[in-house]
Amino acid sequence: MTPENHATPSEHGTSVSEGLSVTGEDVALTPEDEAFLRRAIGLAAKARAGGDPPFGSLLAGPDGNVLAEDHNTSLTDRDITAHPELKLARWAARELDPATAAATTLYTSCQPCGMCAGAIARSGLGRVVYALSNEQLTALKPPGTAFTDAPARGPALPEEARVPVEGYYR
Ligand SMILES: [Zn+2]
Repeated sequence: MTPENHATPSEHGTSVSEGLSVTGEDVALTPEDEAFLRRAIGLAAKARAGGDPPFGSLLAGPDGNVLAEDHNTSLTDRDITAHPELKLARWAARELDPATAAATTLYTSCQPCGMCAGAIARSGLGRVVYALSNEQLTALKPPGTAFTDAPARGPALPEEARVPVEGYYR
C-alpha cells in the first residue's frame, strides 16, 4: 500500500481539518470501533517505522476478537499488492466460512484503495471502518503523485471472448 496506491480522483477542495471534522460528525463510532481503529493506526505507525508505507488494518470477529491483523509491506516485500486490507481480505476468503466472514469488520487506518475495495467485495467481509479517508490522504501527499490509469481499449473481440465464458456463471 504505497501512498500512491491510495490516490483517488476525488477533488482536493476539502482541507484535512475540515474533512476530519465532517467525518467525526457523520460517523457514529462505538468505543470498541475507536479502540480497533487506534490499533490499526498503531499498525500503520509500525509499518512506517519498519520502512514501509504507513498503513495498518485488522479484522475483528463478531465477538469483538481480533482474527487477524497486518500492515503494509509493499516496500519490504517488493510487492505492490501488499496492502493490509488486501492481505486480510485474502486471508478471510481462504480461512473463514461465508457466514463468519459476513460477521467481521475490517478496521483500517486509511480508506481502502480501489484494489483493496475490489478484494474486500469479493471476500464477503461484512463491514469496513476506516480512520482516514482517501481524500484526506491525498491532501497529505505532494501534488502530482497520484497514479493514473493505463489507457485501455476494448471490447475488441467480444464474440470470440465470450465463448469460454458462456454458461460458466449459473
Ligand atoms: Zn489498498
